[in-house]
Amino acid sequence: MPLRIEDIIDKVKKYNQGSDSDLLKKAYLFSAYAHEGQLRRSGEPYLVHPIEVMNILADFKADDVALVSGLLHDVIEDNYSISLNDVENKFGKDVAHIVGGVTKISQLQDSSREKMEIANLRKLIVATLDDLRVIIVKLADRLHNMRTLEFLPPDKQKIKAMETLEIYAPIAYRLGMGILKTELEELGFQYSYKREYEEIAKAISEKRVYASNFIEKKKEEIENLLTEAGIKGFEVQGRIKHLYSIYQKMKMQDISVEQVYDYVAFRIITNSIMDCYGALGIVHTRWKPIPGRFKDWINMPKENHYSSIHTSVIADNGQPFEVQMRTKEMHKEAENGLSAHWRYKDKSHGRDDEEPVSVWLQYLKEWRDEAIGDSDFMKGVQMDLAPKEMYIFTPKGKPVLLSFSATCIDFAYAVHTEVGNKCIGARVGGKMTPLKTQLKSGDIVEVITSQHGKPSRDWLSFAKTSRAIGKIKAFLNKEERDKNTEMGRLMLEQEGHHYKISLKRILSHQNLEVILKKSGFVDIEALLVALGSNKLRAKTFLANLLKNTEQEETTQSKTESPKESDGSVVVLGSKDMLYSLAKCCKPIYGENVVGFISRGKGLIIHRASCSNVSKYAINPERMMPVEWDIKSKSNIIHPVKLEIYTEDRVGMMADVTGKVKELNTNLLDSRGKGMGSEGYIQIIVGVTDINHLNKLILAINNIKGVFKVVRSRSGRIT
Ligand code: MN
Repeated sequence: MPLRIEDIIDKVKKYNQGSDSDLLKKAYLFSAYAHEGQLRRSGEPYLVHPIEVMNILADFKADDVALVSGLLHDVIEDNYSISLNDVENKFGKDVAHIVGGVTKISQLQDSSREKMEIANLRKLIVATLDDLRVIIVKLADRLHNMRTLEFLPPDKQKIKAMETLEIYAPIAYRLGMGILKTELEELGFQYSYKREYEEIAKAISEKRVYASNFIEKKKEEIENLLTEAGIKGFEVQGRIKHLYSIYQKMKMQDISVEQVYDYVAFRIITNSIMDCYGALGIVHTRWKPIPGRFKDWINMPKENHYSSIHTSVIADNGQPFEVQMRTKEMHKEAENGLSAHWRYKDKSHGRDDEEPVSVWLQYLKEWRDEAIGDSDFMKGVQMDLAPKEMYIFTPKGKPVLLSFSATCIDFAYAVHTEVGNKCIGARVGGKMTPLKTQLKSGDIVEVITSQHGKPSRDWLSFAKTSRAIGKIKAFLNKEERDKNTEMGRLMLEQEGHHYKISLKRILSHQNLEVILKKSGFVDIEALLVALGSNKLRAKTFLANLLKNTEQEETTQSKTESPKESDGSVVVLGSKDMLYSLAKCCKPIYGENVVGFISRGKGLIIHRASCSNVSKYAINPERMMPVEWDIKSKSNIIHPVKLEIYTEDRVGMMADVTGKVKELNTNLLDSRGKGMGSEGYIQIIVGVTDINHLNKLILAINNIKGVFKVVRSRSGRIT
């Protein structure tokens, strides 16, 4: 018996009196017009599908915009004469946005099925970031397609089913829509793992008579125990667990279906949190709990807000069973999640108090904003969708939520980006452990960092969270870029010798702008990277640059001369050598330095720790030992940029600038920004010497909530 639109409208009226029935009918008629004459694979008129989708949305108590979108979600894809503009003109912007978001991109040329899927998912996610209802409509669409999957050929069934298990069920879970997630999982399991599904279904059906007897008896016993203890207004539900969750348990514990005893579960729904703990006490007093199975998600809710107490106990006959305890509100939220909070204002964009949803959307934003390749995008989305159900603790007892497969390196990055970037090892439960070690829930992990620590490429082989992977890749990319920039600079300098033109002259050449633009480089750095990575030959570039102005340039370059010594550096063995301070590391008075002789520029002074020093050291004949003249300490103020990594809290910037003033230091520039749970502050200070700088760094380091202070090579606020 097909659903009637009037019945759905009646259903909607029950939860939303303000619903506009005429609008819903208008959308229904438009959908009927658009799908006129089309059939589903089941042989039914196509219109059955959008009506079913609307009905599923009504089960979630969706608002009118979502209901209309459900009715119209396939009109563009299936009827070429209808455009998104038509939908917008008739039903408004919001509906058009949702319908546009769920409409697949039309087949691109030369693109594989996989590429199309990723492109469509990307589109869906981007649209969801503006309106959560996009993904809700998509989930309702997917649920009805899964319910009618039997009509598709087996190869298509499997593709859709896998996608449902990997993408859509986890999204439903993220949104806290427990009922929807379970149905998607059961259907997805049935079609993607046919043999396993049938095996488990058969085994469970053989136990069904025994199980329902057991459930009935135990349910009564639990009810009696709770009543005797004076707990009121509770409800006890008993059930056989879902087949997909049994399958996951088998896989995780590597056991066969005969070894599955743990397939019965009870739920005690109470009026108050106190009663949940009361019921837990009663259950644990009556039956022996199974060690390691107790989980208090009330005290520490899951990331999607899921709250319940879980425990497993053993009955007198040896039969294990699970018991969950939760309040009525928690129950409602666990079953319907988002829909339990749906709002009916005209501008409703999901919930306002949508903390768990916004956590997920935050992940999606990161994935959208980072311009990453398609396969990384998919991996990242899937990883972020994996439930995070493991609590790892810092030595100070702060819990950090991670997904199951997380390793020490994931934990380090979850604590702070800088902790990750500088980590060199970890202690788990007090024992030194390799970074690739997989963690267990409840582990106490201490990350060991070093000033000299930095990410290595092989970390990518065991980092599991998208956060860690993203941060490691970002670091490596930047490092590569810096290396190429430096290399490009050297190559250009080298090539310049042939033309007797200094690097400085090259980089300030009047033709540079035009040449950059012509060759498609956004800035000088892009040019240097291209040179450094051998994508462009310095010789070609320079010849091009100097084509018409060679004459003028070569004469000018001779007039350039390095800065004269002001006496603050003593060059051992050659007192009146000219020198200048290296731009790459900007040494300041009093610190360890080395000098390099550079043709045309005299002596360049680098910090001994400067990364360029090891590069120049290939030509030891150009190296000069130098030290600062203690007697002639100059009054030069050295501008130094500091990068400060902190927790993100109010007043952090004020504390930092306060410290700077306290130490009589000039603050030349500053900028702070919050990045989720982390803060990042840049300041430029004027210091007189290295002692002054060290004192300042130490003082800032001691401010509460400061993780790390780094002296930057760059001199600019970015
Ligand atoms: Mn559809």
